[in-house]
Amino acid sequence: MAVRADYATFLNNGPSGNRADIVFMGDGYTASEMGTYQSHIDAMMRHLFQEGQDPFPRYHNYFNAHRIDVISQQSGADDPSSGTYVNTALDASYRFDGVTQRLLYVNEAKANAALSAGLSGAPFTAEMKLITVNASQYGGGGGKHAVYAGGNASSTEIALHELGHSFAGLADEYQYNNNSTYTGAEPTEPNVTKNATGAKWSRWIGYNQPGIGVIGAYEGARYYDHGLYRPSLNSKMRTLGQPFDAVSREEIILDIYRLVDPLDAWLNNSVTLENPSKLWVDSIDPTIIQHQWFVNNALVPGANGEEFDPLAFGFGPGTYTIKAHNYDPTDWVRASLDLLQEDITWNVTYTIPEPGSAWLLAGASLFILMGRKRAGEKGSRLTRIIHDALESSTICHSSNPHPGPIPWEGRGEISSPRLAPKAFGVDGDRIKSLS
Ligand SMILES: [Zn+2]
Repeated sequence: MAVRADYATFLNNGPSGNRADIVFMGDGYTASEMGTYQSHIDAMMRHLFQEGQDPFPRYHNYFNAHRIDVISQQSGADDPSSGTYVNTALDASYRFDGVTQRLLYVNEAKANAALSAGLSGAPFTAEMKLITVNASQYGGGGGKHAVYAGGNASSTEIALHELGHSFAGLADEYQYNNNSTYTGAEPTEPNVTKNATGAKWSRWIGYNQPGIGVIGAYEGARYYDHGLYRPSLNSKMRTLGQPFDAVSREEIILDIYRLVDPLDAWLNNSVTLENPSKLWVDSIDPTIIQHQWFVNNALVPGANGEEFDPLAFGFGPGTYTIKAHNYDPTDWVRASLDLLQEDITWNVTYTIPEPGSAWLLAGASLFILMGRKRAGEKGSRLTRIIHDALESSTICHSSNPHPGPIPWEGRGEISSPRLAPKAFGVDGDRIKSLS
């Protein structure tokens, strides 16, 4: 077996520590067929994220993808039915179980060894393992690796179905039409059940899924005609070309979220922050992840971005516990929603200014005046400064234009975009911009 020294990353959507890492290997590709190998990979990547192959297109940015070049001495795959035996690196063979012609699989020990060699030193592990075989006869298999005939006309659909097994642990939903009855234990896979009411996926019963139809409990699944039920009349785990049904789609999303979190990064929250200009989080995909901000456990209406400036929302001096609630609002998941959420909490202190100074802290549409006079100082000087600021700037009104007791603060609205969002301080008797 020959594995080229290094893997190649061809899809990089961010730090692999918080991405699902797809790793391709190939079998039956000779050194001169690496171009064919790449074209088979490209076809699968296009298909995986193609419109309609839900849930994958929605979560495209959650994935990175890499390629390991495994060189075979000969081209193709073994086929015992025709006495075809070729020397390939991973021993890919049809009729892998000795019975089922379309069952194409590889020597798993050799595949694992090639994977280890190819990813030696890599800062990620293979989380979605695909092996394309350089063969055109229909076939595939989903064990620890999703194996498929890369040269077959249905190759990419086979690969998606096999990913259902290898990535999401889904069962086949087809039956053999031989009047067989299942009598074993309740299957562990999420998309088949012995229960004729479909209680296993009760949250989806009655849901009318576009392209699939009504989710229920349909008899005939996992190779048996009787005694096992599937969620939909026909899905990709039963027939190629169909979408994944709601139960399988949900499981795939949950498995993605078992590998990634909604956030890549956030402002350090390991210490109490003093007067931070803003709090922030960095989403894995801002077009998917939504945000709510809470101050002392109370939702702040209108605060729904990746950044949050408490002063802009009218909070003055004080100590606060501020929480960002970050979540994927998809209606494709109705269970284990905690996997789709991530909360970050900061302890924050905003101090009132030094004696003898005053601040005008302006946010998007609100401002806060804060100040404290020096011991023995009359309030009139600060009052005049603030008053002058109010009249000379473009502040249209204030709830407290003549600050009273100390420490004092005023709040109001700012009509001019010139002021937003900025901080102003007092230098002598003049208001100056600090930002
Ligand atoms: Zn299958």
